[in-house]
Amino acid sequence: MSVDVRVCDGCNEAMVFDGMGLVPKRNDRLFGVAWKCPKCSKKALDMCPIGPIVPAPGLCLNCGGILTVDSAATCLACGMSRAQTLEFFRIDQNWSTEAAIEVARQAFAPGLCRLGLGILNYVLQKDPSIEEAWVIKYQVYQMLKMDTSALQEFETAAGRIVERGNWA
Ligand SMILES: [Zn+2]
Ligand SMILES: [Zn+2]
Repeated sequence: MSVDVRVCDGCNEAMVFDGMGLVPKRNDRLFGVAWKCPKCSKKALDMCPIGPIVPAPGLCLNCGGILTVDSAATCLACGMSRAQTLEFFRIDQNWSTEAAIEVARQAFAPGLCRLGLGILNYVLQKDPSIEEAWVIKYQVYQMLKMDTSALQEFETAAGRIVERGNWA
């Protein structure tokens, strides 16, 4: 599920990140994270929701669905509560913005892309003026070869904050 390094079910070895990409022709926007076992070369694929494109308050960090307005804030699409998503992404609400971005950056390196995106979305949901979080997210969307409509939605929101030149 790409919030933890995948373990080979054959030899119990930690698998190595082997690329990722958007699953084409799906409206619910899933991406696949590929893993490969360094020992037996077995491959595995984790399917992950892309989460909110523009992480407005009131959207689910897991799938981008709309949260109920009661205290549980439960997602109408995936059923996770706000508290469950924070726990799932191991988010510490006492993190500074810098600390949260650093944790996200470290998540992407070994292939924990879902974790990294979840943390960046959490940062942007709290404060959409954090340019660095938009820029990293954009780089991830580029790697995923995100579809045009999602990129347009993203660029419209991020473009108000991020200097065009910082993106490429
Ligand atoms: Zn193996
Ligand atoms: Zn959801």
